[in-house]
Amino acid sequence: MANRFQHLAPAHVQQLIAYDPGYEPSELQRQLGLAQMIELGSNESSLGAAPAVCQFLSDPKLLEFRYPDAGGHELKQALSDHYQLAKSHFTLGNGTHELLTLIAETFCCPGDEVLHAQYGFAVYRLAALGAGALPVAAPADLNLQVSPDAMLNAVTGKTKIVYLANPNNPTGAIWSKSELRYFLERLPQHVIFVLDEAYIEFVNDDSVANGLLEFATFPNLVVARTFSKAYGLASLRVGYTIADPDFALMLERTRLSFNVNRIAMRAAALAIADQAHIQRVRDAIAEQRRWLTEQLSPMQLQVYPSQGNFVLVNFARDASAIEKALVALGVVVRPMRGYQLPNHLRVTVGIPTENQSFVDALWRVLR
Ligand SMILES: *Cc1c(COP(=O)(O)O)cnc(C)c1O
Repeated sequence: MANRFQHLAPAHVQQLIAYDPGYEPSELQRQLGLAQMIELGSNESSLGAAPAVCQFLSDPKLLEFRYPDAGGHELKQALSDHYQLAKSHFTLGNGTHELLTLIAETFCCPGDEVLHAQYGFAVYRLAALGAGALPVAAPADLNLQVSPDAMLNAVTGKTKIVYLANPNNPTGAIWSKSELRYFLERLPQHVIFVLDEAYIEFVNDDSVANGLLEFATFPNLVVARTFSKAYGLASLRVGYTIADPDFALMLERTRLSFNVNRIAMRAAALAIADQAHIQRVRDAIAEQRRWLTEQLSPMQLQVYPSQGNFVLVNFARDASAIEKALVALGVVVRPMRGYQLPNHLRVTVGIPTENQSFVDALWRVLR
């Protein structure tokens, strides 16, 4: 039935379809009456957070009655120490999702275009529509990749923002250092380029682009990173952007004053200080990504090369029956219908027991 309030909203909100977060695993487990559930649908880290974070979160003094620090000084200082960049470059968000949306709300006027890759993260389109701008998809090639030239060709006089995830979700594809440089040298300076590096901590190939290397040269480059993936803090909601200090001041005008809570900020500050943990996560995921890809090869499926903690698998036929059968066996992966990839499933790289359960379940389903 049509929503009774829809006609009261502006046209761009009428067009919007809410972000699909996938299954809620505990709810699904309850519905199916399963004793155990392997959750490989949302790219979280099964390796968890650094030891100091876990210890802090078990502290009974955790619940302070005061508002958090609206300026986020402790976490910005920790980021500043880690990156050797002044605190004025950082903006904190309730997850990167909030910041991606906030950038569009802050800068887009009606009629502006917001460019993203054809198989790019779903949030970019939502951010554009929510801000009353027009989302434009740059076409991908047969490997589902968008080259720098394809992206540049889609830039028009109306383009306000370009969003690109590197490594890309859901494909796992990357731009190299030289591709990023090539793109930035040709992108008009007044177009804001948001480089979403949610998966950068998983990268183990040196040729992969890193926004921080270009950041001093191109003031229109905004790097977005998150504590939700390698850092294991998805439930606490913390992301950040690294940008020109003037850009950060523009976001200060529009963000909610206490957008990130105290517990999340403290945990994130402890998390970024433990780079040994991140190195262990990177090594473990790289090894399991390789293992998983190898296990899938005798199944005659196309597995896209990935530098993230997930792989995209092409079943060359509609994958929804396979996905449903996996869920019935207690294994959650991500359907890709929303990305116009009905033959594909995205599988998070978990810990060895989870990955083995997925491979066993998939063999059962395919036979
Ligand atoms: C998971 C993800 C994020 C992170 O979102 P949060 O709001 O920080 O949890 C950002 N971008 C991409 C492409 C992602 O896949």
